[in-house]
Amino acid sequence: MDAEAIVIGAGIVGAACAYELCQRGLQVLVVDDGPSGATQAGMGHLVVMDDNPAELALSSVSLAIWRDWLARMDNSCGYSHCGTLWIAADEEEMQAAAEKHKRLQAAGIGCTLIDADALAKLEPALRRGLAGALQVASDGVVYAPNAARWLLGQDGPQGPGSQGGHDANLVKSAGSIRVLQAQVRTLEDGRVCLADGSTRSAPHIVLAAGLRAAALCPELPLQAKKGHLAISARYPSMVRHQLVELGYVKSAHERSGTSVAFNVQPRPTGQLLIGSSRQFDTTDNAIEVPILARMLRRASDYLPGLDALQIIRSWTGFRAASPDGLPLIGPHPQRPGLWLALGHEGLGVTTATGTAHLIAAGICASACALDGNAYLPERCLQNV
Ligand SMILES: Cc1cc2nc3c(=O)[nH]c(=O)nc-3n(C[C@H](O)[C@H](O)[C@H](O)COP(=O)(O)OP(=O)(O)OC[C@H]3O[C@@H](n4cnc5c(N)ncnc54)[C@H](O)[C@@H]3O)c2cc1C
Repeated sequence: MDAEAIVIGAGIVGAACAYELCQRGLQVLVVDDGPSGATQAGMGHLVVMDDNPAELALSSVSLAIWRDWLARMDNSCGYSHCGTLWIAADEEEMQAAAEKHKRLQAAGIGCTLIDADALAKLEPALRRGLAGALQVASDGVVYAPNAARWLLGQDGPQGPGSQGGHDANLVKSAGSIRVLQAQVRTLEDGRVCLADGSTRSAPHIVLAAGLRAAALCPELPLQAKKGHLAISARYPSMVRHQLVELGYVKSAHERSGTSVAFNVQPRPTGQLLIGSSRQFDTTDNAIEVPILARMLRRASDYLPGLDALQIIRSWTGFRAASPDGLPLIGPHPQRPGLWLALGHEGLGVTTATGTAHLIAAGICASACALDGNAYLPERCLQNV
């Protein structure tokens, strides 16, 4: 055996799984041929989403774990505790904000409904005439590529009885993470076959290869959802919160067609990260000027000053979507020893931490604060 667990993929989900397994004392080998994938391309908004109870449970537990991990991370991880303002354009959306307020409060998430005047004071760059917003102060943003790098660079807890990790009783020895830059060509029982013809084996293999996991496991029902993003030059304090229109939720959960929504993030650098778009049925990563233009028009409709800003770069990325919008987290129902941590769609930076807890609890056969039944892969893999 080359390790106690092999993780395929060093994006934010694979890195989080490797970190949590290492904290529990396992010798972990991470294999990745990147950096590439959604983690390099995404927005890094750490956000509680509540489209259904399973999404709310996973995202809220994940944010609590993020707060714990971020307290240890260095500045390169770009964490900012900016909170989210869910913008209501009219009275109908204000009603939607009030319903979201009720659902989040019932789940113990602190949030506040604010009226048009309060919104204008909090974010003076927004256009006048908006109805108000729901403020969720506990959301934040992180620079996911560096957070993944930080997670992979950590040692495990220092031997038996250590207070490191989340459950010191689980620690049997100092864990470790080794990263191997290589491409996995095929998966076999208990081992991975690399492009150079060599193999690596472990009793547990975690497949966290994002959208490309389907090349290793063709039965996986993952669909690409393309997204465009753009970033401005530095305009410190123009925007202070992550600003998202309430219509974003509808756009985020559509299963076909093309949509754009206003979604702007203030980076700690003073830059504005501008999103977002969603497209199906394409794996071409080219920037599509009409979609980018539509997305920027939507953003400047909410933030009129945006037209005058310098946009310095734009790019695209692909979210890996599952058929029901929830990630696949847990054992593969037909392949013993293979664990799946996939299909996080547009929420994988947020939910990487909860995913890591579920995977590590499964592998270590220990309890988890989160009930993982709703995310088990068997719901999508019954007929393979
Ligand atoms: C435009 C956009 C905006 C987003 N915004 C947000 C947001 O604001 N908040 C949020 O929470 N989420 C957001 N997301 C989603 C989030 O970025 C993803 O869900 C998350 O990054 C997925 O991480 P991952 O580790 O599963 O996959 P990836 O980041 O895709 O990592 C997979 C890794 O596996 C490696 N790999 C694949 N196949 C092989 C192989 N055969 N051999 C070796 N290595 C392999 C790849 O090189 C890659 O490094 C966004 C995504 C996009 C595209």
